[in-house]
Amino acid sequence: MNVNYDKELEKIIGGIDRSAPPRLLLHVCCAPCATACLARLADSFDITLYYANDNITDADEWQKRLDEVYKLTEIINDGRFETQPIRPVGLQVRQHCAERFFQAAQGLEQEREGGARCRQCFMLRLGDAKAYAEDNGYDYFGTTLTVSPYKNSALLNETGKLLETDALKWLPSDFKKRNGYGESIRLSAKYGLYRQHYCGCVFSQSIQ
Ligand code: SF4
Repeated sequence: MNVNYDKELEKIIGGIDRSAPPRLLLHVCCAPCATACLARLADSFDITLYYANDNITDADEWQKRLDEVYKLTEIINDGRFETQPIRPVGLQVRQHCAERFFQAAQGLEQEREGGARCRQCFMLRLGDAKAYAEDNGYDYFGTTLTVSPYKNSALLNETGKLLETDALKWLPSDFKKRNGYGESIRLSAKYGLYRQHYCGCVFSQSIQ
């Protein structure tokens, strides 16, 4: 059965008491994708962005995308973002280690984008987010990855759901719905954010 993850998110948002917003650790793949997701969630959660992306195998590219996430966080917390969050947005960074990604992707180097290598990649990054969220008492963890038309939202949500616990809930999403991807392009242009032209790993560099 096809699950409508956008509706599931809406249901959760609808039940939130905004005087005590739940703490959300939002795994962020890059600043452009984060813009549209933050616009959707800003009014409902106490949000910390979590940059954990060992899949970005080139260290300079990893740093470049992180710098843009810092820039976006500053724009938001300076009050310059068009949808202001109910709490200032935090940012945590997991130290880069491309070797972890290469280990996870071993034997899957030739897979097409969206195939078995990406499944491993999602598990690695969402697993990192879950571990940090669990250690630090968050209520929810989620990801900006579902905004991309190149990413399988069902697979991302199934992976997240597998990782959730009684105390730490997966935040379902399909941010590409409601023109989320279009919004991410508009917002990243508005705030002058760098948009990369490939997913992240060395194997994806010639694909998009
Ligand atoms: S193509 Fe993207 S999602 Fe797939 S393995 Fe590479 S970095 Fe990860």
